[in-house]
Amino acid sequence: MAVLTLSGLTRRAREAPVQEALPEHYVDASEDETAHKIATAKEILGRKLVILGHHYQRDEVIRWADYTGDSYKLARYGADRRDADFIVFCGVHFMAESADILAADHQRVILPNMTAGCSMADMADIHQVEECWAHLTRIVPERIIPITYMNSAANLKAFVGEHGGAVCTSSNARTVLDWAFQQGDKVLFFPDQHLGRNTGLRMGIPGEQMVVWDPWALCGGAPAHEYRDARILLWKGHCSVHGRFTVDQIRQARADFPGIRVVVHPECVQEVVDAADDFGSTERIVKLVQASEPGAQFAIGTEINLVNRLAHEHPGKRIICLDPVVCPCSTMYRIHPAYVRWVLDNLLDGRVKNEIVVADDIKRWARVALDRMLSLA
Ligand code: SF4
Repeated sequence: MAVLTLSGLTRRAREAPVQEALPEHYVDASEDETAHKIATAKEILGRKLVILGHHYQRDEVIRWADYTGDSYKLARYGADRRDADFIVFCGVHFMAESADILAADHQRVILPNMTAGCSMADMADIHQVEECWAHLTRIVPERIIPITYMNSAANLKAFVGEHGGAVCTSSNARTVLDWAFQQGDKVLFFPDQHLGRNTGLRMGIPGEQMVVWDPWALCGGAPAHEYRDARILLWKGHCSVHGRFTVDQIRQARADFPGIRVVVHPECVQEVVDAADDFGSTERIVKLVQASEPGAQFAIGTEINLVNRLAHEHPGKRIICLDPVVCPCSTMYRIHPAYVRWVLDNLLDGRVKNEIVVADDIKRWARVALDRMLSLA
């Protein structure tokens, strides 16, 4: 593992995760056999085990989850279950890291498949962020507050903690940005430019006062005066799933189903969020559907597994995905039940496979950033 020491904090560049090949009998097993083995392992491990399932997981995985939810809610559930020594996180890498940051020392966090990452989180690497910060703090005289979305690696959360910033979720981005503007003059927001832009616009900050920092371009790609004049500096990152939704799809849904309510996730591009009737985090989308009257119609712009599950759970309502061509999160999809079975079988044999361990110095500063967010609740 590469180790750099910058600004007094040990930074580790995350190496590409390696996933051990599953033994053949896991791959060849029937669905029923895999399900039976998982059920048996769960029963034997009892309260020592908690399985967390992100909303975007497929049903064959969600059926084993003790708790379902978004990434932050799940990390909290894991930490709150102090009797669980093992937290199996059916989500992606940054989520398991967040669970480890919040977990007690005796709790061990496991990601069933180490290659389940998040393409958005991977768009902001700590070295790029350090470079960006060094450049911006040289050319911008005012105070910049760094804010990272929950969907980021632990070392980025630590970076913002160490530099006076905070973490935000898609539910509380506005509250956190309001707080950031009380602490400083500008905000550097990463890794999702769309969440940053959509939130800034709804705070009344015009688009001209936001500028994108492209980590692959020389000095961010924009002239220095644009970074000096802007209020929000947006990292050029995006979610490949939410980036698929378009205004044309919204028009089509309204034409096909007059009166349908269009609700999208704030990781969608600005034009889509502007054209929708409403927007919100996965938790908010779930609540909107649950609170609606029988016969309600929703065209939803978020990951297909969640949309399909909502449709299944609410047969008296019309719930469709805005994108007629299925749009699963391909990295979430790497959590196949066979991997869940494999990590549980290993626990039964006394082996902890695929443990996610965040280094203590990173954990300490990441907690500072998370605690700042929590103090705003
Ligand atoms: S849906 Fe997008 S942001 Fe969420 S885990 Fe998948 S790639 Fe990452």
